[in-house]
Amino acid sequence: MSRSGRKNHKRAYWLRGKIIKWVRDLAFREGILTVEKNPAYTSQMCPHCHTQGERNGHHFICQNPAHTYHADAGFMGMMNLYRKWNGTFIYPRKKKRADEPKPTQAKVVSVV
Ligand SMILES: [Zn+2]
Repeated sequence: MSRSGRKNHKRAYWLRGKIIKWVRDLAFREGILTVEKNPAYTSQMCPHCHTQGERNGHHFICQNPAHTYHADAGFMGMMNLYRKWNGTFIYPRKKKRADEPKPTQAKVVSVV
């Protein structure tokens, strides 16, 4: 990255920090609790059936054939962030390769 690119990056992070602090202070004055959560996958996962959907601009379409769900992606992000906050959000599973060996079951040994 060029020198000016690094400067712009640094300035953007500085501004982001200012905005977060300002919003947090404003919410605190109004008596609202604020928490920071990683927004990864929040606008890709269906909040009802936990399958990865498809984004079409600001529109979300659930890919589950048994579940037809269309919603605004921002609204979806809000619902999934709430799920992340209360611990019910489910991350997408990595697709396993067919030739991948199955993990061996760990033996349970009781010690008396
Ligand atoms: Zn769904």
